[in-house]
Amino acid sequence: MAGKAKSYKFKAEINQLLDILVHSLYTNREIFIRELVSNASDALDKLRFEMTRGTEVADKNLPLEIKITLDKDKKMLTIHDTGIGMTGEEIVKNIGTIAKSGSADFLQKLSEEAKDKDVSNIIGKFGVGFYSVFMVASEVNITSRSFQPDAKPIRWTSSGMGSFKLEELDEPVQRGTSIEIHLKEDAEEFLEKYRVESTIKKHSNFISFPIMVDGEKVNTVTALWREPKSSIKKEQYDEFYKYLTYDSEPPMDTIHVSIDAPVQFNSLMFIPKQTFDMFGISKEDIGLDLYVKGVLIQHKNSELLPEYLGFIKGMVDSPDIPLNISRETLQENRVVMKISQTLVKQVLSFLTKKAKDDPEAYAEFWKIHGKIFKLGYSDYANMEKFADLLRFDSSALEEEGQLTSLAEYVERAKEDQKEIYYITGASREALQSDPHLEIFKRKGLEVLYLYDPVDEFAMTGVVKYKSDYTLTAVEQADLSKLEKFEDSEETESKAEALSDGEEKVFKKLLKKIQDILGDRVTEVRESKRLHDSASCLVSPDGDMTSQMQKILHIMNKDTSVPKKVFEVNKDHALVRNMLKIYKNDPKDPFITEAVEQLYESALLLEGYLTDPHKLVNRIQDILLKSSQWHPAQQ
Ligand code: ADP
Ligand code: MG
Repeated sequence: MAGKAKSYKFKAEINQLLDILVHSLYTNREIFIRELVSNASDALDKLRFEMTRGTEVADKNLPLEIKITLDKDKKMLTIHDTGIGMTGEEIVKNIGTIAKSGSADFLQKLSEEAKDKDVSNIIGKFGVGFYSVFMVASEVNITSRSFQPDAKPIRWTSSGMGSFKLEELDEPVQRGTSIEIHLKEDAEEFLEKYRVESTIKKHSNFISFPIMVDGEKVNTVTALWREPKSSIKKEQYDEFYKYLTYDSEPPMDTIHVSIDAPVQFNSLMFIPKQTFDMFGISKEDIGLDLYVKGVLIQHKNSELLPEYLGFIKGMVDSPDIPLNISRETLQENRVVMKISQTLVKQVLSFLTKKAKDDPEAYAEFWKIHGKIFKLGYSDYANMEKFADLLRFDSSALEEEGQLTSLAEYVERAKEDQKEIYYITGASREALQSDPHLEIFKRKGLEVLYLYDPVDEFAMTGVVKYKSDYTLTAVEQADLSKLEKFEDSEETESKAEALSDGEEKVFKKLLKKIQDILGDRVTEVRESKRLHDSASCLVSPDGDMTSQMQKILHIMNKDTSVPKKVFEVNKDHALVRNMLKIYKNDPKDPFITEAVEQLYESALLLEGYLTDPHKLVNRIQDILLKSSQWHPAQQ
């Protein structure tokens, strides 16, 4: 095809994107420089990576750099790099399609955002940064020559209006890529040297290759992470963070780690002030950039930090990893594993100190990143630190929004109390009236309130706090252990004890209830935990908690109702009345009606009642009957 240009149409999604970009706000158009410079830097990183592994490359003595030239006469800005370059096939694949997953959703979001907002902070994150050039360009020409020794140079041309042209060139071209941008009339500010320079200083200052504008070097090209900590100002860290993440806010925290043994490495880690998962493709966004002796080996390497610390952004540079390592073997690399272990320890220590020195700031951290952090329940090696960093709502706290640590719980615990109790529910309100908690209230025992399904996994991961306090779901608590604690006065039982004869009738009533409920329950028994409620359902001993059951049900798409123990509160006024009615006539239909109602109410509380019709009809029936006893009717 040499010499002959071939025409291609952009994919529909690219056209949609171009349309958005052309019509989006003008305020931040300068970011096209950031995007093209970042692509040039990536191309140079890739080339350097190949060279360090001994791959044969074209023009191997070319300096690795980015050159920007401004031509006022032609109204043209050119960005040139000596990086890896592209073949014709590669350019069609890389520029012309959107490779990353989730791009459809992203475009949808973007078109909503673009109406009234600045899209510059997100554009680069989704593998579409190149197209930002069409915010300023009336025409773009790309000339590229791949590093592969026998590759043919190519030329790509487009005005961003639905199609592009591609042509193989016959004349020799040096390795790398030149992007010629013919500026639109209203974008001629980008012909001004100071304008381009200040943009580079603002967004691309940390690019590790020299950036020359009309022959003058503009960026600093120092590896901030290798400087002594004492010489680095907060502004420099913040600037580096913004460069790395495109976040417009500075980070919440910066962790700078320099370690010499057992593995030598430097790392800059940042905790952002916000989560980045707004477009639901956060998985690809997790990880630290990995450098070996200053050479970028991989963007967002996910082996360096476990998933639960995935909210951290940053980079690692180590001379102890072999430069010619392949990305596949990074996973099993022992040095990478060592670095990872050290990083985790450093982050956890940092958070521990933060929690101790500034609880308010830690609470803020927890609010934003706690949800991910809780996934650390399987990091057994660091379980103690992990446990200490968890935060929960609790029955001991005055109001919603306050949080407690396990350590604080233990401080408040009763003498002889060897359990930390917890319960899972939908909200504080729901839990405060949960029948399972009645005995804990009566005994004045604190219970942690869990709202997030993952909380319970965290509890099961910790198992024992400080190898002394067993984390116990309220439902599974051994109630005989609670007997040693005194009842608090106001909740002391006011019901009179039953006579021996009445006890016998009660036993029979339990049997009757068992007959009514049949195999819908595993057992019917007298309750030790209830105070205000007449009955409740509990998991059979040794079974998993209701919350776990629910999670499994959802995972297995199981809609059956699990069989549970039905507990009856012997001292409750309703049960006492039932006892009288039963004694008078064991076949009285009221008993069945009441038991069905109590059972379904309990199911409703547990979230298992799928058909409320019977329950509602029964309530109406009962209301009707009780209204007939109203004084006004007499
Ligand atoms: P991203 O950089 O996130 O992949 P872009 O839209 O910025 O998305 O670029 C798309 C792709 O085009 C890049 O991944 C790269 O493969 C290729 N590319 C862009 N610019 C260059 C360049 N200067 N040299 C080599 N390849 C490039
Ligand atoms: Mg890019």
